[in-house]
Amino acid sequence: MPRGGGVSAKDPLVARLARGKDKSLRRRHPWVFSGAIEVEPRRAGFGDTVELLSCDGEFLARAAWSPESAIRARAWTFDQAEVVDEAFFHARIARAVAMRRDLAAEALVEPASHRLVHGESDGLPGLVVDRYGDVVVCQFLSAGVERWREAIVKALLQETGCRTLYERSDVDVRTKEGLPLRAGLLAGPEPDALLRVREHGRVHLVDVREGHKTGFYLDQRLGRDAASRWCRGREVLNAFSYTGGFSMAALAGGAASVLDVDVSAPALALASAAVAEAGLQDRHQVLEADVFSLLRRMRDSRRSFDAIVLDPPKFAEARSHLDKALRGYKDINLLAFKLLRPGGVLLTFSCSGLVAPELFQKVVADAAVDARRDAVVVERLGQPADHPVGLAFPEGTYLKGLVCRVS
Ligand code: SAH
Repeated sequence: MPRGGGVSAKDPLVARLARGKDKSLRRRHPWVFSGAIEVEPRRAGFGDTVELLSCDGEFLARAAWSPESAIRARAWTFDQAEVVDEAFFHARIARAVAMRRDLAAEALVEPASHRLVHGESDGLPGLVVDRYGDVVVCQFLSAGVERWREAIVKALLQETGCRTLYERSDVDVRTKEGLPLRAGLLAGPEPDALLRVREHGRVHLVDVREGHKTGFYLDQRLGRDAASRWCRGREVLNAFSYTGGFSMAALAGGAASVLDVDVSAPALALASAAVAEAGLQDRHQVLEADVFSLLRRMRDSRRSFDAIVLDPPKFAEARSHLDKALRGYKDINLLAFKLLRPGGVLLTFSCSGLVAPELFQKVVADAAVDARRDAVVVERLGQPADHPVGLAFPEGTYLKGLVCRVS
C-alpha cells in the first residue's frame, strides 16, 4: 500500500544524489534516474513525496518517488518552502486551466476542446488532461499523480466546472511505473458515445472510451489547419488517418478528394461518419490497409496524388528502436515522394520525441534524394500552444512536421 505522501516535518523521506548527479535538477529538469541516486529513502512507496538532497545535504527538490521506474523521482517543486499537499495540486491545476483560458481568449486554442494539462510542462509530471466540451479525460501516468488522484480529480472538477471526468490510464507506460492499466468514469454522468470537437467550424467525432490516447489527436491542430490551406483543389492521400482529422480539414478547405488509409476499421468508421455528418462524403473514401505495403502497391501501379499526409504512430518508443524508426520514416517518405505529381505537397510528421527536428528533416531530405525528387520545405509545424514545452524540459518537444513541395 502506498504510504501517505504528505511530508511531515518530523520525518521527511529523504534521498541523496550521487556526487556530480545534481546538475540537471539544478537546471530544474524534473527527472532523476535511478543511477543518480546514492542513498534511497527508507520505506518510500509508490508516489510518496521525497526530499532530494545533494551529496552535501543541500535541498534540491521535493519529488514523487517511483520505486519501480528507471525515472526514480519526478520533481514537484524546487522551492523548499512549497509543501506538496492537496492545495499544491489545486494551485497547479488552476494555473494550467487559467493559461488555456488566456490562450482561448487570444484565439490560440479552441475554447471548448484543448489540452488542459500537459504533464511536466505544466508542473505536473505524468498527468495528461484533455477537455472535450463538458467532458474532461485524464491519464495518470506516474506514481506521483496516481498517489494524488483524488486531489487532482477534485481540483479538475472545481477549476473547469465540467461535469464528467473520464479516465484513460490504459496506457503501456503505466507498467513501467509498476501501475495497473485502468479506464472508466471518475466523476459525473457517463459521456456520450460520441463527442463532437469543433475546430474552425469543422466538427470531429471523438470516442473517449475506445479511441486512441484520450480519443482525439488534439496535438495536430496546427497540422489540420495546414491541411485545410494546402489541399485546396487537390487529390489527397491521408495515410495513418485514424478518425480522419486531416481529411475533415482538407475537405473543408476545398480538397478535390481525400482517401483515408488506416489499419483500424473503427477509426475509419468514425472518419466516414464525421464526413457524412458534414455532407462531404462525395469527395471522401476510406481504405483499411497497411500503409507500408499499400504505398508500394500504389508505386507499382503508378498511382499519383497532389497531396499526401503522413502522420504515423510513434515509431521510436525507446532509444534502442531509433535506427529502425528512422528506416521506417525514410521508407514511407520515399514512397510518398514517388507518388506525388509535380507541384504536389507532402505534409509529413513524426511524433517520436527521440527523433529531433533536425534529424527528422535529414531523413525526409534523404528520402527525397533517393526518390529523385526536388523538394523544398514550405512550412514547419509542431505542437500547438496548449501542448507547451517547459524550457527546462526539452523532452516535452515531440511533434514536428514539414510541408514539402516537390517540383
Ligand atoms: N493522423 C491521425 C493520427 C494518426 S495516429 C490524426 O490526426 O488523428 C496513427 C494511426 O496509424 C493509428 O490510427 C493507427 O491505427 C494507424 N496505423 C499504425 N500502423 C499502421 C500501418 N502500418 N498502416 C496503416 N495504419 C497504421
